[in-house]
Amino acid sequence: MTTHDILAVRASRHGPIAIAPDEFRRAGHALVDTIAEFLQSLPDRPLTTESSPAALRSHLDAERPLPDDGVAMEPLLASTAQLLFEHSLFNGHPRFFGYITSSPAPIGMLADFLAAAVNPNVGARQLSPMATEIETQAVRWVAELIGYPTPTGGLFVSGGNMANIVGLFAARAAMAGWDVRAEGVAAASARTLKVYATHETHTWLQKATDLSGLGTASIRWIPTDDSQRLDPRALRRAIDQDRAEGAVPMMVVGTAGTVSTGAVDPLGEIADICRDAGIWFHVDGAYGALASAVPGTARDLQHLSQADSVAVDPHKWLYMPMEAGCVLVRDAEALRNSFAYHPPYYHFGEPALNYVDYGPQNSRGFRALKVWLALQQAGRRGYVEMMAGDIRLSQRFHHLVGQHPELEALTQQLSINTFRYVPPELHDRRADADTAEYLNGLNQKLLDRIQLSGEAFVSNAVLDGQYLLRACIVNFNTTEADIDAMPEFVARLGREVHAASR
Ligand SMILES: *Cc1c(COP(=O)(O)O)cnc(C)c1O
Repeated sequence: MTTHDILAVRASRHGPIAIAPDEFRRAGHALVDTIAEFLQSLPDRPLTTESSPAALRSHLDAERPLPDDGVAMEPLLASTAQLLFEHSLFNGHPRFFGYITSSPAPIGMLADFLAAAVNPNVGARQLSPMATEIETQAVRWVAELIGYPTPTGGLFVSGGNMANIVGLFAARAAMAGWDVRAEGVAAASARTLKVYATHETHTWLQKATDLSGLGTASIRWIPTDDSQRLDPRALRRAIDQDRAEGAVPMMVVGTAGTVSTGAVDPLGEIADICRDAGIWFHVDGAYGALASAVPGTARDLQHLSQADSVAVDPHKWLYMPMEAGCVLVRDAEALRNSFAYHPPYYHFGEPALNYVDYGPQNSRGFRALKVWLALQQAGRRGYVEMMAGDIRLSQRFHHLVGQHPELEALTQQLSINTFRYVPPELHDRRADADTAEYLNGLNQKLLDRIQLSGEAFVSNAVLDGQYLLRACIVNFNTTEADIDAMPEFVARLGREVHAASR
Protein backbone atom coordinates (compact mmCIF):
# COMPACT_ATOMS: atom_id res chain seq x y z
CA MET A 1 0.00 0.00 0.00
CA THR A 2 1.23 3.49 -0.77
CA THR A 3 0.96 6.25 1.82
CA HIS A 4 -1.93 7.59 -0.16
CA ASP A 5 -3.77 4.28 0.06
CA ILE A 6 -3.19 4.12 3.80
CA LEU A 7 -4.64 7.61 4.20
CA ALA A 8 -7.62 6.61 2.13
CA VAL A 9 -8.21 3.59 4.35
CA ARG A 10 -7.95 5.74 7.45
CA ALA A 11 -10.39 8.25 6.00
CA SER A 12 -12.89 5.51 5.28
CA ARG A 13 -12.52 4.20 8.84
CA HIS A 14 -12.91 7.56 10.57
CA GLY A 15 -15.54 8.96 8.31
CA PRO A 16 -16.05 12.61 7.56
CA ILE A 17 -14.36 14.06 10.67
CA ALA A 18 -10.95 12.78 9.62
CA ILE A 19 -9.86 14.64 6.52
CA ALA A 20 -6.93 14.25 4.17
CA PRO A 21 -3.93 16.51 4.78
CA ASP A 22 -4.55 18.37 1.52
CA GLU A 23 -8.07 19.24 2.51
CA PHE A 24 -6.91 20.37 5.94
CA ARG A 25 -4.31 22.58 4.32
CA ARG A 26 -6.79 24.11 1.89
CA ALA A 27 -9.49 24.72 4.47
CA GLY A 28 -6.99 26.02 7.01
CA HIS A 29 -5.37 28.46 4.62
CA ALA A 30 -8.76 29.68 3.46
CA LEU A 31 -9.86 30.26 7.06
CA VAL A 32 -6.66 32.13 7.90
CA ASP A 33 -7.18 34.34 4.81
CA THR A 34 -10.75 35.05 5.88
CA ILE A 35 -9.66 35.92 9.43
CA ALA A 36 -6.84 38.14 8.16
CA GLU A 37 -9.31 40.11 6.03
CA PHE A 38 -11.69 40.37 8.94
CA LEU A 39 -8.96 41.70 11.24
CA GLN A 40 -7.90 44.24 8.63
CA SER A 41 -11.46 45.46 8.12
CA LEU A 42 -12.29 45.61 11.82
CA PRO A 43 -11.78 49.38 12.37
CA ASP A 44 -14.23 50.12 9.53
CA ARG A 45 -16.84 47.60 10.59
CA PRO A 46 -19.67 48.46 12.96
CA LEU A 47 -18.56 47.52 16.47
CA THR A 48 -21.79 45.61 16.83
CA THR A 49 -25.08 45.35 14.99
CA GLU A 50 -28.47 45.82 16.49
CA SER A 51 -29.88 42.33 16.29
CA SER A 52 -32.82 41.13 18.33
CA PRO A 53 -32.64 37.57 19.58
CA ALA A 54 -35.44 36.77 17.12
CA ALA A 55 -33.45 38.15 14.19
CA LEU A 56 -30.37 36.23 15.28
CA ARG A 57 -32.32 33.02 15.54
CA SER A 58 -33.69 33.50 12.08
CA HIS A 59 -30.17 34.03 10.64
CA LEU A 60 -29.13 30.87 12.43
CA ASP A 61 -32.23 28.97 11.38
CA ALA A 62 -32.39 28.15 15.07
CA GLU A 63 -35.26 25.70 15.00
CA ARG A 64 -33.81 23.27 12.47
CA PRO A 65 -33.22 19.77 13.85
CA LEU A 66 -29.83 18.11 14.18
CA PRO A 67 -28.74 17.23 10.64
CA ASP A 68 -28.73 13.53 9.79
CA ASP A 69 -26.14 13.83 7.09
CA GLY A 70 -22.88 15.67 7.16
CA VAL A 71 -21.82 18.49 4.86
CA ALA A 72 -18.55 19.58 3.33
CA MET A 73 -16.22 21.33 5.74
CA GLU A 74 -14.94 24.26 3.69
CA PRO A 75 -18.23 25.96 2.83
CA LEU A 76 -19.43 25.29 6.38
CA LEU A 77 -16.42 27.11 7.83
CA ALA A 78 -16.79 29.94 5.33
CA SER A 79 -20.48 30.56 6.04
CA THR A 80 -19.91 30.30 9.79
CA ALA A 81 -17.15 32.90 9.65
CA GLN A 82 -19.56 35.27 7.89
CA LEU A 83 -22.34 34.51 10.38
CA LEU A 84 -20.02 35.50 13.23
CA PHE A 85 -18.49 38.52 11.50
CA GLU A 86 -21.94 39.93 10.80
CA HIS A 87 -23.60 39.29 14.16
CA SER A 88 -21.02 39.72 16.90
CA LEU A 89 -19.75 42.39 19.21
CA PHE A 90 -16.04 42.94 18.66
CA ASN A 91 -14.01 43.62 21.76
CA GLY A 92 -11.00 44.02 19.48
CA HIS A 93 -12.63 47.01 17.74
CA PRO A 94 -10.53 50.14 18.34
CA ARG A 95 -13.48 51.92 19.97
CA PHE A 96 -14.54 49.10 22.27
CA PHE A 97 -14.19 50.54 25.77
CA GLY A 98 -16.98 48.56 27.37
CA TYR A 99 -15.91 46.02 29.89
CA ILE A 100 -12.45 44.96 30.91
CA THR A 101 -12.28 42.62 27.96
CA SER A 102 -9.26 43.02 25.78
CA SER A 103 -8.54 43.05 22.11
CA PRO A 104 -7.27 39.54 21.33
CA ALA A 105 -3.59 39.19 20.41
CA PRO A 106 -3.13 37.46 17.04
CA ILE A 107 -0.50 35.17 18.51
CA GLY A 108 -3.12 34.00 20.98
CA MET A 109 -5.45 33.05 18.13
CA LEU A 110 -2.74 31.00 16.48
CA ALA A 111 -1.63 29.52 19.79
CA ASP A 112 -5.12 28.18 20.53
CA PHE A 113 -5.08 26.59 17.08
CA LEU A 114 -1.72 24.93 17.75
CA ALA A 115 -2.76 23.84 21.24
CA ALA A 116 -5.86 22.16 19.83
CA ALA A 117 -3.77 20.35 17.21
CA VAL A 118 -1.38 18.84 19.78
CA ASN A 119 -4.23 18.54 22.30
CA PRO A 120 -2.26 17.76 25.45
CA ASN A 121 -4.30 17.04 28.56
CA VAL A 122 -2.55 19.28 31.05
CA GLY A 123 -4.14 17.55 34.02
CA ALA A 124 -1.32 15.02 34.21
CA ARG A 125 2.34 15.34 33.39
CA GLN A 126 2.39 12.00 31.63
CA LEU A 127 -0.31 13.19 29.23
CA SER A 128 1.34 16.54 28.60
CA PRO A 129 5.08 16.33 29.14
CA MET A 130 6.16 19.57 27.48
CA ALA A 131 2.86 21.37 28.00
CA THR A 132 3.12 20.89 31.78
CA GLU A 133 6.62 22.38 31.76
CA ILE A 134 5.45 25.27 29.58
CA GLU A 135 2.57 25.98 31.95
CA THR A 136 4.95 26.01 34.91
CA GLN A 137 7.26 28.43 33.14
CA ALA A 138 4.38 30.66 32.00
CA VAL A 139 3.00 30.82 35.55
CA ARG A 140 6.43 31.83 36.83
CA TRP A 141 6.74 34.50 34.12
CA VAL A 142 3.37 35.98 35.06
CA ALA A 143 4.60 36.09 38.66
CA GLU A 144 7.84 37.78 37.58
CA LEU A 145 5.93 40.32 35.53
CA ILE A 146 3.89 41.47 38.52
CA GLY A 147 6.77 41.20 41.00
CA TYR A 148 5.32 38.26 42.90
CA PRO A 149 7.97 36.17 44.68
CA THR A 150 9.19 33.09 42.84
CA PRO A 151 9.33 30.13 43.04
CA THR A 152 5.60 30.29 43.26
CA GLY A 153 2.68 27.94 42.92
CA GLY A 154 -0.18 28.52 40.56
CA LEU A 155 -1.96 27.45 37.44
CA PHE A 156 -4.09 28.67 34.59
CA VAL A 157 -7.85 28.56 34.91
CA SER A 158 -10.74 29.85 32.83
CA GLY A 159 -10.67 33.44 34.03
CA GLY A 160 -10.61 35.87 36.92
CA ASN A 161 -13.60 34.35 38.66
CA MET A 162 -12.07 30.88 38.78
CA ALA A 163 -8.68 32.27 39.79
CA ASN A 164 -10.29 34.08 42.72
CA ILE A 165 -12.43 31.08 43.64
CA VAL A 166 -9.34 28.85 43.72
CA GLY A 167 -7.68 31.47 45.98
CA LEU A 168 -10.60 31.29 48.39
CA PHE A 169 -10.47 27.51 48.51
CA ALA A 170 -6.75 27.69 49.27
CA ALA A 171 -7.48 30.10 52.12
CA ARG A 172 -10.28 27.89 53.45
CA ALA A 173 -8.11 24.77 53.66
CA ALA A 174 -5.20 26.67 55.18
CA MET A 175 -7.15 28.71 57.74
CA ALA A 176 -10.05 26.58 58.97
CA GLY A 177 -8.17 24.83 61.76
CA TRP A 178 -10.14 21.62 61.30
CA ASP A 179 -10.31 19.26 58.32
CA VAL A 180 -12.81 21.39 56.44
CA ARG A 181 -12.34 19.42 53.21
CA ALA A 182 -13.46 16.17 54.85
CA GLU A 183 -15.85 17.43 57.49
CA GLY A 184 -17.27 20.47 55.77
CA VAL A 185 -18.16 23.84 57.23
CA ALA A 186 -20.89 22.25 59.38
CA ALA A 187 -18.48 19.91 61.23
CA ALA A 188 -18.99 19.47 64.96
CA SER A 189 -15.72 21.27 65.58
CA ALA A 190 -16.42 23.97 62.99
CA ARG A 191 -16.33 27.66 63.76
CA THR A 192 -17.72 30.46 61.68
CA LEU A 193 -15.30 31.52 58.96
CA LYS A 194 -15.26 35.19 57.96
CA VAL A 195 -14.13 36.93 54.78
CA TYR A 196 -13.48 40.69 54.54
CA ALA A 197 -13.95 42.81 51.44
CA THR A 198 -15.52 46.04 50.23
CA HIS A 199 -18.67 46.44 48.18
CA GLU A 200 -16.45 47.35 45.23
CA THR A 201 -15.34 43.70 45.11
CA HIS A 202 -16.43 41.80 42.01
CA THR A 203 -19.28 39.28 42.44
CA TRP A 204 -16.86 36.34 42.28
CA LEU A 205 -16.78 36.66 46.06
CA GLN A 206 -20.46 35.82 46.45
CA LYS A 207 -20.05 32.84 44.12
CA ALA A 208 -16.92 31.63 45.93
CA THR A 209 -18.41 31.84 49.42
CA ASP A 210 -21.53 30.11 48.15
CA LEU A 211 -19.66 27.31 46.34
CA SER A 212 -17.31 26.72 49.25
CA GLY A 213 -20.16 26.29 51.73
CA LEU A 214 -19.23 29.40 53.71
CA GLY A 215 -22.29 31.19 52.41
CA THR A 216 -22.49 34.83 51.40
CA ALA A 217 -23.31 35.70 55.01
CA SER A 218 -19.66 34.99 55.80
CA ILE A 219 -18.71 38.18 53.97
CA ARG A 220 -18.03 41.18 56.18
CA TRP A 221 -18.47 44.23 53.99
CA ILE A 222 -15.87 46.84 54.91
CA PRO A 223 -16.56 50.49 54.09
CA THR A 224 -14.48 52.46 51.60
CA ASP A 225 -13.02 55.95 51.56
CA ASP A 226 -13.80 58.67 48.99
CA SER A 227 -11.64 56.91 46.40
CA GLN A 228 -13.49 53.56 46.70
CA ARG A 229 -10.59 52.04 48.67
CA LEU A 230 -10.95 49.77 51.68
CA ASP A 231 -10.77 51.56 55.03
CA PRO A 232 -8.06 49.74 57.05
CA ARG A 233 -9.29 50.99 60.43
CA ALA A 234 -12.75 49.61 59.78
CA LEU A 235 -11.12 46.34 58.76
CA ARG A 236 -9.23 46.07 62.04
CA ARG A 237 -12.39 46.77 64.02
CA ALA A 238 -14.38 44.11 62.14
CA ILE A 239 -11.67 41.51 62.66
CA ASP A 240 -11.43 42.26 66.41
CA GLN A 241 -15.18 42.09 66.77
CA ASP A 242 -15.46 38.75 64.95
CA ARG A 243 -12.63 37.28 67.02
CA ALA A 244 -14.34 38.40 70.21
CA GLU A 245 -17.48 36.64 69.05
CA GLY A 246 -15.61 33.35 68.44
CA ALA A 247 -15.47 33.47 64.65
CA VAL A 248 -12.35 32.73 62.59
CA PRO A 249 -11.24 35.62 60.38
CA MET A 250 -10.19 33.58 57.34
CA MET A 251 -9.33 35.88 54.47
CA VAL A 252 -9.13 39.54 53.53
CA VAL A 253 -9.66 40.44 49.88
CA GLY A 254 -7.83 43.43 48.50
CA THR A 255 -8.69 44.44 44.97
CA ALA A 256 -5.97 45.71 42.65
CA GLY A 257 -8.08 47.59 40.14
CA THR A 258 -11.78 47.50 40.98
CA VAL A 259 -14.26 46.86 38.20
CA SER A 260 -16.12 50.14 38.58
CA THR A 261 -13.33 52.67 38.78
CA GLY A 262 -9.96 50.88 38.76
CA ALA A 263 -9.32 51.71 42.42
CA VAL A 264 -6.46 49.89 44.15
CA ASP A 265 -7.05 49.01 47.81
CA PRO A 266 -4.34 49.96 50.34
CA LEU A 267 -2.61 46.63 49.82
CA GLY A 268 0.38 47.45 52.04
CA GLU A 269 -1.79 48.28 55.04
CA ILE A 270 -4.01 45.25 54.45
CA ALA A 271 -0.90 43.04 54.27
CA ASP A 272 0.27 44.40 57.64
CA ILE A 273 -3.11 43.74 59.23
CA CYS A 274 -3.22 40.20 57.82
CA ARG A 275 0.30 39.45 59.04
CA ASP A 276 -0.45 40.75 62.55
CA ALA A 277 -3.72 38.85 62.76
CA GLY A 278 -2.63 35.66 60.98
CA ILE A 279 -5.21 35.98 58.20
CA TRP A 280 -4.92 34.87 54.57
CA PHE A 281 -4.40 37.85 52.29
CA HIS A 282 -5.86 37.42 48.82
CA VAL A 283 -5.53 40.01 46.07
CA ASP A 284 -8.02 40.16 43.23
CA GLY A 285 -5.71 41.52 40.60
CA ALA A 286 -7.76 40.18 37.68
CA TYR A 287 -7.54 43.54 35.97
CA GLY A 288 -4.96 45.69 37.71
CA ALA A 289 -2.23 43.36 38.98
CA LEU A 290 -0.52 43.32 35.61
CA ALA A 291 -0.17 47.11 35.69
CA SER A 292 2.25 46.76 38.59
CA ALA A 293 4.83 46.14 35.85
CA VAL A 294 4.28 49.70 34.59
CA PRO A 295 6.48 52.19 36.42
CA GLY A 296 4.56 55.01 38.06
CA THR A 297 1.17 53.32 38.37
CA ALA A 298 -0.69 53.04 41.67
CA ARG A 299 1.95 52.78 44.42
CA ASP A 300 -0.06 50.16 46.30
CA LEU A 301 0.41 47.65 43.50
CA GLN A 302 3.97 47.17 44.74
CA HIS A 303 2.51 45.41 47.81
CA LEU A 304 0.98 42.63 45.72
CA SER A 305 4.08 40.63 46.55
CA GLN A 306 2.89 40.29 50.15
CA ALA A 307 -0.32 38.45 49.28
CA ASP A 308 -0.80 34.75 50.01
CA SER A 309 -2.67 34.39 46.74
CA VAL A 310 -3.28 36.60 43.71
CA ALA A 311 -5.73 36.28 40.84
CA VAL A 312 -4.55 37.63 37.49
CA ASP A 313 -6.43 37.63 34.20
CA PRO A 314 -4.29 37.18 31.10
CA HIS A 315 -7.46 37.59 29.02
CA LYS A 316 -7.52 41.16 30.26
CA TRP A 317 -4.20 43.03 30.28
CA LEU A 318 -2.12 40.36 28.55
CA TYR A 319 -4.60 40.70 25.65
CA MET A 320 -5.24 36.97 25.43
CA PRO A 321 -8.28 35.64 23.62
CA MET A 322 -10.79 33.98 25.96
CA GLU A 323 -10.15 32.07 28.16
CA ALA A 324 -7.13 32.58 30.36
CA GLY A 325 -7.09 33.30 34.07
CA CYS A 326 -4.19 32.63 36.40
CA VAL A 327 -3.97 32.11 40.15
CA LEU A 328 -0.69 32.46 42.00
CA VAL A 329 -0.03 31.26 45.54
CA ARG A 330 2.99 31.98 47.67
CA ASP A 331 3.10 28.40 49.00
CA ALA A 332 2.63 25.89 46.18
CA GLU A 333 1.55 23.26 48.70
CA ALA A 334 -1.45 25.41 49.55
CA LEU A 335 -3.12 24.40 46.30
CA ARG A 336 -2.38 20.69 46.74
CA ASN A 337 -3.64 20.92 50.29
CA SER A 338 -6.89 22.30 48.89
CA PHE A 339 -7.45 20.12 45.85
CA ALA A 340 -5.34 16.93 45.75
CA TYR A 341 -6.95 13.60 46.53
CA HIS A 342 -3.97 11.41 46.92
CA PRO A 343 -1.97 11.93 50.02
CA PRO A 344 1.35 13.75 49.73
CA TYR A 345 3.29 10.61 50.86
CA TYR A 346 2.91 9.22 47.35
CA HIS A 347 5.48 11.72 46.21
CA PHE A 348 9.05 11.00 47.10
CA GLY A 349 11.77 13.44 46.19
CA GLU A 350 10.66 15.79 43.46
CA PRO A 351 6.90 15.87 43.62
CA ALA A 352 5.23 14.86 40.41
CA LEU A 353 3.59 17.93 38.98
CA ASN A 354 0.13 16.84 37.95
CA TYR A 355 -1.99 19.94 37.58
CA VAL A 356 -5.08 17.90 38.43
CA ASP A 357 -3.85 18.16 42.04
CA TYR A 358 -3.67 21.94 42.05
CA GLY A 359 -7.13 23.02 41.04
CA PRO A 360 -10.72 21.91 40.54
CA GLN A 361 -10.35 20.75 36.91
CA ASN A 362 -9.51 17.21 35.86
CA SER A 363 -8.86 17.25 32.12
CA ARG A 364 -7.28 20.58 31.32
CA GLY A 365 -6.67 22.39 28.06
CA PHE A 366 -3.41 24.03 27.13
CA ARG A 367 -4.36 27.63 27.98
CA ALA A 368 -0.79 28.29 29.00
CA LEU A 369 0.53 28.10 25.46
CA LYS A 370 -0.90 31.41 24.28
CA VAL A 371 0.29 33.23 27.38
CA TRP A 372 3.74 31.67 27.11
CA LEU A 373 4.05 32.63 23.44
CA ALA A 374 2.71 36.17 23.89
CA LEU A 375 5.06 36.88 26.80
CA GLN A 376 7.95 35.98 24.51
CA GLN A 377 6.64 37.80 21.46
CA ALA A 378 6.16 41.09 23.32
CA GLY A 379 8.62 40.62 26.17
CA ARG A 380 8.32 42.51 29.43
CA ARG A 381 9.18 45.73 27.66
CA GLY A 382 6.50 45.24 25.03
CA TYR A 383 3.83 44.58 27.63
CA VAL A 384 4.85 47.54 29.77
CA GLU A 385 4.66 49.74 26.69
CA MET A 386 1.19 48.47 25.70
CA MET A 387 -0.27 48.77 29.21
CA ALA A 388 1.29 52.21 29.69
CA GLY A 389 -0.22 53.18 26.34
CA ASP A 390 -3.71 52.15 27.48
CA ILE A 391 -3.28 54.14 30.70
CA ARG A 392 -2.12 57.21 28.77
CA LEU A 393 -5.10 56.99 26.43
CA SER A 394 -7.44 56.74 29.41
CA GLN A 395 -5.86 59.82 30.98
CA ARG A 396 -6.21 61.65 27.66
CA PHE A 397 -9.88 60.62 27.48
CA HIS A 398 -10.42 61.94 31.01
CA HIS A 399 -8.68 65.20 30.19
CA LEU A 400 -10.66 65.77 26.97
CA VAL A 401 -13.96 64.97 28.68
CA GLY A 402 -13.08 67.50 31.38
CA GLN A 403 -12.62 70.20 28.73
CA HIS A 404 -15.91 69.54 26.98
CA PRO A 405 -18.64 71.99 28.09
CA GLU A 406 -21.39 69.35 28.03
CA LEU A 407 -19.52 66.55 29.75
CA GLU A 408 -18.46 66.02 33.32
CA ALA A 409 -15.32 63.98 34.07
CA LEU A 410 -15.54 62.04 37.35
CA THR A 411 -12.77 59.50 37.96
CA GLN A 412 -9.67 58.20 36.22
CA GLN A 413 -7.64 55.30 37.66
CA LEU A 414 -5.47 52.75 35.81
CA SER A 415 -7.16 52.66 32.38
CA ILE A 416 -10.75 53.35 33.49
CA ASN A 417 -12.40 56.76 33.37
CA THR A 418 -15.94 57.65 34.34
CA PHE A 419 -17.94 60.61 33.06
CA ARG A 420 -21.44 61.72 32.16
CA TYR A 421 -23.40 64.03 29.94
CA VAL A 422 -24.73 67.16 31.66
CA PRO A 423 -26.73 69.63 29.51
CA PRO A 424 -25.16 73.09 30.04
CA GLU A 425 -28.40 74.65 31.29
CA LEU A 426 -28.59 72.01 34.05
CA HIS A 427 -24.96 72.23 35.07
CA ASP A 428 -25.42 74.56 38.05
CA ARG A 429 -28.42 72.61 39.32
CA ARG A 430 -26.91 69.17 38.85
CA ALA A 431 -26.85 68.42 42.59
CA ASP A 432 -30.58 69.18 43.10
CA ALA A 433 -32.55 66.01 43.71
CA ASP A 434 -34.83 66.41 40.66
CA THR A 435 -32.02 67.27 38.31
CA ALA A 436 -29.83 64.48 39.68
CA GLU A 437 -32.59 62.00 38.99
CA TYR A 438 -33.12 63.38 35.51
CA LEU A 439 -29.39 63.16 34.77
CA ASN A 440 -29.31 59.54 35.91
CA GLY A 441 -32.14 58.64 33.54
CA LEU A 442 -30.62 60.69 30.75
CA ASN A 443 -27.24 58.99 31.01
CA GLN A 444 -28.84 55.58 31.22
CA LYS A 445 -30.64 56.26 27.92
CA LEU A 446 -27.45 57.71 26.49
CA LEU A 447 -25.60 54.51 27.32
CA ASP A 448 -28.12 52.52 25.30
CA ARG A 449 -27.75 54.93 22.41
CA ILE A 450 -23.97 54.64 22.42
CA GLN A 451 -24.03 50.86 22.69
CA LEU A 452 -26.49 50.49 19.83
CA SER A 453 -24.68 53.02 17.61
CA GLY A 454 -22.11 50.47 16.47
CA GLU A 455 -19.54 53.29 16.49
CA ALA A 456 -18.19 52.94 20.01
CA PHE A 457 -18.96 50.97 23.14
CA VAL A 458 -18.81 52.09 26.77
CA SER A 459 -20.43 50.68 29.89
CA ASN A 460 -21.61 52.24 33.13
CA ALA A 461 -20.78 52.63 36.79
CA VAL A 462 -22.87 53.92 39.69
CA LEU A 463 -20.92 56.09 42.09
CA ASP A 464 -22.52 57.83 45.08
CA GLY A 465 -25.90 57.37 43.46
CA GLN A 466 -24.76 58.93 40.18
CA TYR A 467 -25.23 56.96 36.98
CA LEU A 468 -22.00 57.33 35.04
CA LEU A 469 -20.59 56.23 31.73
CA ARG A 470 -17.41 54.22 32.05
CA ALA A 471 -14.67 53.61 29.54
CA CYS A 472 -12.08 50.86 30.08
CA ILE A 473 -9.18 50.80 27.67
CA VAL A 474 -7.54 47.39 27.46
CA ASN A 475 -7.07 47.54 23.75
CA PHE A 476 -3.90 47.66 21.68
CA ASN A 477 -5.95 48.65 18.61
CA THR A 478 -7.09 51.98 20.09
CA THR A 479 -5.35 55.11 18.82
CA GLU A 480 -5.35 58.73 19.96
CA ALA A 481 -7.67 59.55 17.04
CA ASP A 482 -10.23 57.06 18.42
CA ILE A 483 -10.08 58.78 21.81
CA ASP A 484 -10.15 62.32 20.43
CA ALA A 485 -13.39 61.63 18.58
CA MET A 486 -15.16 60.33 21.69
CA PRO A 487 -16.13 63.45 23.69
CA GLU A 488 -17.99 65.15 20.81
CA PHE A 489 -19.53 61.83 19.77
CA VAL A 490 -20.89 61.26 23.28
CA ALA A 491 -22.03 64.89 23.56
CA ARG A 492 -23.84 64.72 20.21
CA LEU A 493 -25.81 61.63 21.21
CA GLY A 494 -26.36 63.17 24.65
CA ARG A 495 -27.86 66.28 23.07
CA GLU A 496 -30.20 64.12 20.97
CA VAL A 497 -31.34 62.03 23.93
CA HIS A 498 -31.83 65.18 26.04
CA ALA A 499 -33.87 66.85 23.27
CA ALA A 500 -36.06 63.76 23.00
CA SER A 501 -36.51 63.54 26.79
CA ARG A 502 -37.87 67.02 27.43
C1 LIG B 1 -12.92 40.78 35.28
C2 LIG B 1 -12.79 40.73 36.74
C3 LIG B 1 -13.16 39.59 37.45
C4 LIG B 1 -13.79 38.39 36.78
O1 LIG B 1 -12.92 37.83 35.85
P1 LIG B 1 -13.46 36.91 34.65
O2 LIG B 1 -12.25 36.69 33.82
O3 LIG B 1 -14.53 37.69 33.97
O4 LIG B 1 -13.98 35.66 35.26
C5 LIG B 1 -12.96 39.59 38.81
N1 LIG B 1 -12.43 40.65 39.43
C6 LIG B 1 -12.06 41.77 38.79
C7 LIG B 1 -11.46 42.92 39.54
C8 LIG B 1 -12.22 41.85 37.41
O5 LIG B 1 -11.86 42.96 36.75
